[in-house]
Amino acid sequence: MLTHLECTRCGERYPADRPQTVCPKDAGVLYARYDLAAIKKSFSSARLAGRAPTMWRYDAILPEADPVTLGEGFTPMLASREFPNVFIKDEGLNPTGSFKARGLSACVTMARRFGLKKLAIPSAGNAAGALAAYCAAANLEAHIFMPKDVPSANRIECDYYGAHVTLVDGLISDCARKVAELKDYEFWKNDGWFDVSTTKEPYRVEGKKTMGYEVAEQLGWRMPQGIIYPTGGGVGLLGMWKAFEEMEALGWISSKTAGQERPKMISVQSAGCAPIVKAWDDEKTSAEMWPNATTLASGLRVPKPYADYLILDILKKSKGTAVSAADEEILEATRHWAKVEGIFAAPEGAACLVAYRKLRASGFFKPEDTVVLFNTGSGLKYLDVLDASVARTPAKPAQSAKPAARQIGGIIGPY
Ligand SMILES: [Zn+2]
Repeated sequence: MLTHLECTRCGERYPADRPQTVCPKDAGVLYARYDLAAIKKSFSSARLAGRAPTMWRYDAILPEADPVTLGEGFTPMLASREFPNVFIKDEGLNPTGSFKARGLSACVTMARRFGLKKLAIPSAGNAAGALAAYCAAANLEAHIFMPKDVPSANRIECDYYGAHVTLVDGLISDCARKVAELKDYEFWKNDGWFDVSTTKEPYRVEGKKTMGYEVAEQLGWRMPQGIIYPTGGGVGLLGMWKAFEEMEALGWISSKTAGQERPKMISVQSAGCAPIVKAWDDEKTSAEMWPNATTLASGLRVPKPYADYLILDILKKSKGTAVSAADEEILEATRHWAKVEGIFAAPEGAACLVAYRKLRASGFFKPEDTVVLFNTGSGLKYLDVLDASVARTPAKPAQSAKPAARQIGGIIGPY
């Protein structure tokens, strides 16, 4: 039922029967579009019951292809032990221990369908591990470009998955340049290479949108009043908002029905790298490059997300907001969640708790509001960051000529 791809900037349509990157006219992010009227006739939300507990249970509104799956998605929606009406969506239980599994499962599925052979990604974090795993499952080559002193978990998993890991003497931006340079060579076109960078191909958003479907289904087709989402590249935020639009077109939810209004979407970022928070506070429609980005929450170290204009538009349309959390607050929240909820979260996920507390204190959320907090990954991927015997707070860049490995890891974009 996938009909075409559509530019999110100019609305231009592109065929969905071949690999596509971004809009050739204005470099806008491309969204997959479906014949939702036809899907509405042939499929209903009631038919989800009894389907496999993975993200592919929603294959009626995903591209038609043989999925490359490791059982990703349909993660637990856990009721908070501390706050009534708060739910923690625990994405740490995905394959490779993070929400990146969803986007890369969809992306690698389509890459295999299009006959691509070698998928390249500049990443130092969980996206790299996920790409490596799904390429292993699909028998495709994963080409990971990482800074040479990346966090150990991501480097080791990529190695074990059999990915081609190129360690680059520099930052993630240098890695992105390496990938860009490859495109000048004949082999890039002839040997089936493809760049799967964040929001530079259309299908990672499709995988991530299943989080939006799950929020609705797991809450019994009632929508929460708010969703707090740690925002690096922002793919999940884009995907969930797209899912809500689709579900309304499909008649699965209605924004005119009480309890089914769209949630307020809240971006949480680290105070050490908060381009979306700054742009939101300044009432801008795009973000500026954040200088000297530093945070232990490596997935949030994105100085300027490529889809900034879409993220900010969603915050505005949903009457949401953007909140920053200091690394010290994030560390405390990570420990607090572990002790109080029994969830050993990624620091990015625990940042949601910091944001929720602030939004409760300011009156933005009331105790009776249902709010979903996204834990985007497992703390087990961050042992070198979280090991209290090594460090409680990250070193400031000024204190050492060479930043610690964890401060480099996980920057994604802009390229
Ligand atoms: Zn365009």
